[in-house]
Amino acid sequence: MGRLDIRQIPALGDNYIYLVHDEDSGETAVVDPAEAAPVLAALDEAGWRLSHILNTHHHPDHVGGNLELVAKTGCSVIGFAGDAERIPGIAVRVREGDEIAIGAHRARVIEVPGHTSGHIAFWFADARALFCGDTLFALGCGRLFEGTAEQMWHSLLKLRALPDDALVHCAHEYTQSNARFALSVDPGNEALRRYAARVDALRAEGRATVPSLLGEEKAANPFLRADKADMKRAMGMETAGDVAVFAEIRARKDSFRG
Ligand code: ZN
Ligand code: FE
Repeated sequence: MGRLDIRQIPALGDNYIYLVHDEDSGETAVVDPAEAAPVLAALDEAGWRLSHILNTHHHPDHVGGNLELVAKTGCSVIGFAGDAERIPGIAVRVREGDEIAIGAHRARVIEVPGHTSGHIAFWFADARALFCGDTLFALGCGRLFEGTAEQMWHSLLKLRALPDDALVHCAHEYTQSNARFALSVDPGNEALRRYAARVDALRAEGRATVPSLLGEEKAANPFLRADKADMKRAMGMETAGDVAVFAEIRARKDSFRG
């Protein structure tokens, strides 16, 4: 099987759009096209033809380019069946456990509600590539706009169950501010301190901190550590349940001014 070529396209200030290209078949998907213009430019530069749009959720900074891309390329929009009325141009409706294919590369659909009630992630196991939209960020997680803390915690546990060498392709460059918050709640975490120092160095050079390695997120991302004894201790919540600790970390992040 040929390589799956993944390219990152910055958009709208801090969004990342991804092109996923299968060399053998020539099929190309775009994940969460915030806008059409930079996608069309990147396709043109690469000499690729768009075959699919993969949407993780309905927010405008993830579906904003859908209709223009469909009109100009005839590509097919894949999105969550339960949110079909909010995904512009949806043609293929998917749910938990469904598989989609870009050429011979298959991705499993994982339902991860919390940021929105209908949010999905795409896991390309052979390429070790996770596309998780606004659910899991490098050193952070999405805000709870429509779902509950309990839903989001269980969604994050599903992503945490993937292998350590999974590459986390999230949809925003929020890592440096996430790192400042993470250090405020988990200052004794050596893995986090090393990760945060590397993020500062990358950002000082204007470079992307995404994708990140899931194994490093497991060790350093406070939102993936709400069930760990040392994290609970750092929060002053030794005897609290996992969901309560997760909810408190999320609440502190919402009001954090760092
Ligand atoms: Zn969003
Ligand atoms: Fe977003």
